Amino acid sequence: GPPRPLAEPLAPRDVFIAVKTTKKFHRARLDLLLETWISRHEEMTFIFTDGEDEALARRTGHVVNTNCSAAHSRQALSCKMAVEYDRFIESGRKWFCHVDDDNYVNVRALLRLLGSYPHTQDVYLGKPSLDRPIQATERVSENKVRPVHFWFATGGAGFCISRGLALKMSPWASGGHFMSTAERIRLPDDCTIGYIVEALLGVPLVRCGLFHSHLENLQQVPASELHEQVTLSYGMFENKRNSVHIKGPFSVEADPSRWED
Ligand code: UDP
Ligand code: MN
Repeated sequence: GPPRPLAEPLAPRDVFIAVKTTKKFHRARLDLLLETWISRHEEMTFIFTDGEDEALARRTGHVVNTNCSAAHSRQALSCKMAVEYDRFIESGRKWFCHVDDDNYVNVRALLRLLGSYPHTQDVYLGKPSLDRPIQATERVSENKVRPVHFWFATGGAGFCISRGLALKMSPWASGGHFMSTAERIRLPDDCTIGYIVEALLGVPLVRCGLFHSHLENLQQVPASELHEQVTLSYGMFENKRNSVHIKGPFSVEADPSRWED
């Protein structure tokens, strides 16, 4: 559809982009981001990892060592999301966005999208990973559970939350509460965000088709519309290499991500 009118023009300093990574991906994935989209948007970008890396710290000032475990466990991932949330609140910025280290962020499109919503209101923007709400079991007390269902934005495509909404999430998300909230439903970090926003606060996810993970067929994004997308990704999908379709001088082997910047 036609672009929404700007509610407020945003400056790069209004947005906090948290990039989730882990030490073993610093060379394999993060270097590519530092050479492409992050290099032009360092003041917006904060890297959340789990191990010291002097080479990384020399390249950018915005590295946060979360001291979370480097395991791919639910607890380790919610630990990182908890630190991302707390750092965003401290930053005083208007928008929180979370992405993975295999996402490409088109910052111009992101600023245009966020600028069309008021940051003081409740806004949760992203792409649902399922075609129906997730069914979960919520522990309400020591020996009582109840079913709960809600939509959530898939973390692998990136999502954004307005400051107004983030502040309301605080009782369940700030200072360690995020991890206990995640334990209440025993689901991953991105589902926990959906649980807090939709199930606990009653704020619906705003679906946006401009966010993309590698769990969808990226070849289907038309080349003529690539520049309008807010996030892209690369990786594996149904056991096949998945990336956007761009012709260029590099072979797929030389550039499996197809990010030319
Ligand atoms: N990740 C992490 N710790 C780990 C493994 C992965 O923080 O032990 C991060 C990784 O850097 C990425 C995200 O979690 O930002 C998703 O990981 P990956 O792309 O490998 O998995 P998938 O997309 O298949 O879920
Ligand atoms: Mn991935």
